[in-house]
Amino acid sequence: MLYGYGGNILRIDLTSGSVSTEPTDPKIAEKFLGGRGFGIYFLFTELPRGADPMGPDNLLIISPGPLSGTLVPGAGKLDITCKSPLTGGYAGANVGGLLTAEIKYAGYDSIILKGKAPKPVYIFVDNDKVEIRDASDLWGKGSLETEKILKDRLGEEFQIATIGPGGENGVKFACITHDFGRQAGRGGVGAVMGSKNVKAIAVRGNKSILVADVQAFRKAARAMYKACKDSSGLQVWQRYGTAGVTTWSNEIGAFPTRNFSSGQLEGYENLSGEVMREKIVITDKGCFGCPSPCGKWSHVKKHGVRVEGPEYESTALLGGDCALTDIEDVAYANYLADDLGLDSISAGNVIAFAMECYERGILTDKDTGGIRLTFGNAEAVFAMLKKIAYREGIGAILAEGVKHASGVFGKGSEAFAIQAKGMEFSGY
Ligand code: SF4
Repeated sequence: MLYGYGGNILRIDLTSGSVSTEPTDPKIAEKFLGGRGFGIYFLFTELPRGADPMGPDNLLIISPGPLSGTLVPGAGKLDITCKSPLTGGYAGANVGGLLTAEIKYAGYDSIILKGKAPKPVYIFVDNDKVEIRDASDLWGKGSLETEKILKDRLGEEFQIATIGPGGENGVKFACITHDFGRQAGRGGVGAVMGSKNVKAIAVRGNKSILVADVQAFRKAARAMYKACKDSSGLQVWQRYGTAGVTTWSNEIGAFPTRNFSSGQLEGYENLSGEVMREKIVITDKGCFGCPSPCGKWSHVKKHGVRVEGPEYESTALLGGDCALTDIEDVAYANYLADDLGLDSISAGNVIAFAMECYERGILTDKDTGGIRLTFGNAEAVFAMLKKIAYREGIGAILAEGVKHASGVFGKGSEAFAIQAKGMEFSGY
């Protein structure tokens, strides 16, 4: 008996349209722990050597872990693994929310997508009923709008992951969005999903997860939950979310500023967790079973949108790194990145890099399509996010990531392209 697991691996070949399941192998569960372990195992044993990350041979492996869907707090993450189109290496992105538990309740420990659908589709999973459904009417729509449409169509209890135009158009740092604002952000997992013509995945399940000793498990989980609830550190975390570290990051000189040319931003205090809480946050929002929800649901009146966040990384890269100092502008940039399906970390990096190129005269108005790409110009950030997602003009170059863009722009710009092995830096 494999306690804690859904019990099955679901395989979907999008080229042939075939769907199959196999029992989860206890030997794999023993050696490769959690969703990330499963993702790594399947990627390294099944991906053909030299596979094109954007080709049909790449795998998109979606895996909860053995604690997902149980009472244990902090087990609300879902791992998404593939070969990264951004780095050519391993990509392991994780997303919080409710989908990880739902996949377990449907009875699966991994969903493995391979091949490429001949037309846009979405994956429908309702326990054992699995279908590849037409998504032609959803293609071209934003991530957030797509989730809303599918919730209305299928029912609120379905948990849904989507891509936006960025993923459809093969932006190398496109993300996968779930729960109206949670992202599997890094490494281009959304680009791989888009390369397979998969717009969304919708899952509902109502099976049980077996544990070996229910009473002991419940007791241990309750103790963990209480410890989290009683922790003063986590109370600060809950009030401000990850944005609670913005002030600290700036004070120690680690806040990405003007394409990482500085670690301190004048006006940073306007982006602090405290200001964010006071000005835009409406309520808290958390992943499955989380005792200290760090997600913040915000109303951005200046731009007329509601958005989850911005959390620290988005504030750091779309805010500080681009020298924006109005939390409502940063929150709106975050909203655009979410709906367009772009990783806000990489997107902020490439825009900040382009801003530095512009200020140094490496890029001109002719290159930017007339956009004055100076640090602190919020409208320029909004415009560039759209250009990147739709690969318009200079956006087509930036959509390949900062390493590629510096190779195209040249003129010494490689020296301030902030990346490691093709991956843009995060906010610490
Ligand atoms: S809401 Fe925040 S703290 Fe809670 S599980 Fe999700 S990411 Fe972690």
